[in-house]
Amino acid sequence: MNKKKVVAMIACMTMAVSMVGCSSNSTSTTAAAAQTTAAAETTAAETTTEAETTTEAETSAEETSVPEEVASGEEILFSDINLAGYKYVDISHLVEAEMPADPALKLPELNFFSQIGTDDAMYNLEVISYCPHTGTHMDAPFHVLEEEGTIESVDPTVLIGPACIIRLDVDGDYEITVDDVKNWEAEHGEIQPGEAVMFDTNHDKIWESDPQEYITNYPHLVAETAEYLVQKGARFVGCEAISPDTSEPVCHKILLGGGTEVVENVCNLDQVEADRCYVVATFANVQGSTGVWTRLLAYYK
Ligand SMILES: [Zn+2]
Repeated sequence: MNKKKVVAMIACMTMAVSMVGCSSNSTSTTAAAAQTTAAAETTAAETTTEAETTTEAETSAEETSVPEEVASGEEILFSDINLAGYKYVDISHLVEAEMPADPALKLPELNFFSQIGTDDAMYNLEVISYCPHTGTHMDAPFHVLEEEGTIESVDPTVLIGPACIIRLDVDGDYEITVDDVKNWEAEHGEIQPGEAVMFDTNHDKIWESDPQEYITNYPHLVAETAEYLVQKGARFVGCEAISPDTSEPVCHKILLGGGTEVVENVCNLDQVEADRCYVVATFANVQGSTGVWTRLLAYYK
């Protein structure tokens, strides 16, 4: 799909999310999410009974396992997303000084230059120095492509919208193939243009217990799979590892060059109790940055 078209459609999306309370990492919480559109003048009671009304569109969506608003086509894909009654899972790691990361990368370091109770300081203030390619983060195309943009050029809504979760029962440095993706599609319906694709490989489970294994021996894409996902118009690819590549950034270049963003070190996808969900996240607009930390929430029901 034309990237500009996606941007324009996402911009049309009207979504107001209000969350009740605050979940700790890896906790599922019911969200009171509501949307206000001209068409959505339903009361809470009406919203509850809405699910019981079977329309033609809903029937066809059920047949293919594609949610109604996704299956209905591009025009509806990014509009009228209603998260009322959905639960969410935080699919981002806690950012901390000790995380699994390539040894070449600088892990976050907090240095306080003002502390309440010291030298009459009234505020706690720190400087954080870190490489943004640590923790759960998104890559800017410039990370691997000299001619492409840095973070401020990336659509701020690219991490908001529908996502597929492809679950693979694999170990170690498994190569994720096109057939893995096609097998998922055969069961759950085709990946629609503008959907994100995230791979649940359970690799996140060794984030704390075996950081060395986490960064050296992880499931990754191969070039053909990256090309297939670009062809499908995937909005972004989320992986539970430090990279979709092993060494040379082949898949990075295919994805980022093809208009598909890359999100690394995603986690907790096994807790999302659906094979399709909505991801809600955005990121700091840092001029000239090649990547940025992001906190993604996966909404499902
Ligand atoms: Zn990165």
